[in-house]
Amino acid sequence: MGRRGWETGAIMGHDKSNSGSLLIKGGHLIDPAAKIDALMDILIEGGRVADVAPPHKIKGADEKFDARGLIVAPGFIDLHVHLREPGQSYKETIASGTAAAAAGGFTSVCTMPNTVPVVDSVEWVQWLRSPERGAVVNVFPIAAATRASKGGALTDFRSLQRAGAVAVTDDGKPILEDDIMRAALVLGSELHFPVVQHAEDTRLTENCSMHAGARAFRLRITPRVGLADLARLDPIQPRHTLEYHLVIRRRETLAKVSGEWDDLGLRRRGQKNAYRERRRQAVW
Ligand SMILES: [Zn+2]
Repeated sequence: MGRRGWETGAIMGHDKSNSGSLLIKGGHLIDPAAKIDALMDILIEGGRVADVAPPHKIKGADEKFDARGLIVAPGFIDLHVHLREPGQSYKETIASGTAAAAAGGFTSVCTMPNTVPVVDSVEWVQWLRSPERGAVVNVFPIAAATRASKGGALTDFRSLQRAGAVAVTDDGKPILEDDIMRAALVLGSELHFPVVQHAEDTRLTENCSMHAGARAFRLRITPRVGLADLARLDPIQPRHTLEYHLVIRRRETLAKVSGEWDDLGLRRRGQKNAYRERRRQAVW
């Protein structure tokens, strides 16, 4: 990554050729796994990292890449990518989408299946992975969990996995039916095949325009139920700072106005009753 993104792609092209050696010189290496955050030279041999050392220690390489002023890092992995193929090549191709990924330092992308058509078959998974697509980074397809992502019948997990899919999801929408979701999870765990849920209950969020809270209440806008605003804030220390009290006050107000139950440990009877009352009235 850095000011000359396209050259990152060039390095990767070099890696893939698996021949000769390349010295990446003068870059700032950030490798959290190896706990390195310093200027380092990196020697690549046969497409693999052969040596990492402080500047000027490694001598002799077929090719050199001047990385001064650049960050050098292990390739990033994007777990949630929407490429536009199959189906909408006029917007983006696997080749152009993965070139953009490479320019940003991403060497692997997991692609979502909600293209047109939906990637719910072995054929489409194979099509995505075919060398003819011209991908310049690793493409790991995530296939649809149900046929055409309609939430009805599960896809053939076993075959999709064998064809190279790394997970299944109906991304863009949730699997709403509990029995289908349960079947997906049971089969997924048997196969060690992750099932990724689009975490939204669209029966609750239909026609909702903003996050639930005091403001939505005052503006009379149908709120989206969510607990994000009331998330725990335990790490705040010490507990008697002004900031802490402001947070508590805000959350008390939110809980009071919205009728939502605030699980902060305050557990005031008033809040709890308001919450129960809301539930009884099935306001949401
Ligand atoms: Zn998505």
